[in-house]
Amino acid sequence: MHLARFPRVRMFPTPTPLERLDNLTRELGGPEIWIKRDDCTVVATGGNKIRKLEYLVGAARAEGADHLVTQGAVQSNHVRQTAAVARRFGMKCTALLEHRIETNDRDYLNSGNVLLDRLFDCAIEYRAAGLDMNAEAEAKGAALRETGAKPYVIPGGGSNPVGALGYVGCAQELMQQADEMGLRIDRVVTATGSAGTQAGLVVGLAGCNAGVPVLGIGVRLPKDRQEANVHRLAEATAELVGVRGGVPRGAVEANCDYVGPGYGQPTPGMIEAVLMLARLEGVLLDPVYSGKAMAGMIDLIRKGAIGKGERVVFLHTGGAVGLFGYTGVFEQAMAS
Ligand SMILES: *Cc1c(COP(=O)(O)O)cnc(C)c1O
Repeated sequence: MHLARFPRVRMFPTPTPLERLDNLTRELGGPEIWIKRDDCTVVATGGNKIRKLEYLVGAARAEGADHLVTQGAVQSNHVRQTAAVARRFGMKCTALLEHRIETNDRDYLNSGNVLLDRLFDCAIEYRAAGLDMNAEAEAKGAALRETGAKPYVIPGGGSNPVGALGYVGCAQELMQQADEMGLRIDRVVTATGSAGTQAGLVVGLAGCNAGVPVLGIGVRLPKDRQEANVHRLAEATAELVGVRGGVPRGAVEANCDYVGPGYGQPTPGMIEAVLMLARLEGVLLDPVYSGKAMAGMIDLIRKGAIGKGERVVFLHTGGAVGLFGYTGVFEQAMAS
């Protein structure tokens, strides 16, 4: 693999911190839990989409684009990060926000990521739930092209092979960091949604023959569909970076038992995980992704499915801004 072959912009210092969570480790009685702080990618409060956007914006600039078009749920972290990055590189941004969750909650609809989208003066259009949102974004891009703009359309979550390069790079970064620290890693755990993060990690770890498995904790789809999406994107990403032999289907594992009632719907486990990390470690998770992924990891540890003797790295993908879209949920939890 040779990532310098791909156009890229730089937005944050690497490596992101890799820290041991002593208090959580003690509370659970093992395994040894570490956290890779990809919530610390600097731009607009950070998050995992910044790594993908380094390559996506690199590609957009290489083709002379002046406008980023993307899509996501109303409280999309990806849209917030894309809106900020567009400004950073002197581009406009148009975002299509899907009403994926049925709610009239004022905070969900206006605060958190939506407030920040507006601060970045992102042009927002809303869409009803259930449309093919990537097709909607392509259509919006085509309409903008008609008016003389030079749009670059980024799929939801920045999850295509170009975006996934960001997590191929993260996997290399993590292994180098671990080797320098003398740290043997048994497993990486991450939230998995639009699949680019897990796909990139799997390809990057395969490309450096790390032999470290990745467990994705799903936040939306059932296991078979999530694993199929991750595997498809991993194969395409492996081809792009030239990892020969591709990615075996068995290297893609997702546990989708922690979604609860649906995407973005709170669960008791998510609330417990957010409160535990805040109160034990001073770490902010988010209600939609990292909170559910941490809830899954904690439950798998309690059930013994993740062994006490392991050393686990939890990838913190960011998203804490989303907490402000769920104020009522946490107020209620803390009142009882
Ligand atoms: C988008 C996102 C994820 C999921 O990453 P994918 O690459 O879409 O699978 C996880 N955590 C947070 C906070 C996110 O915003």
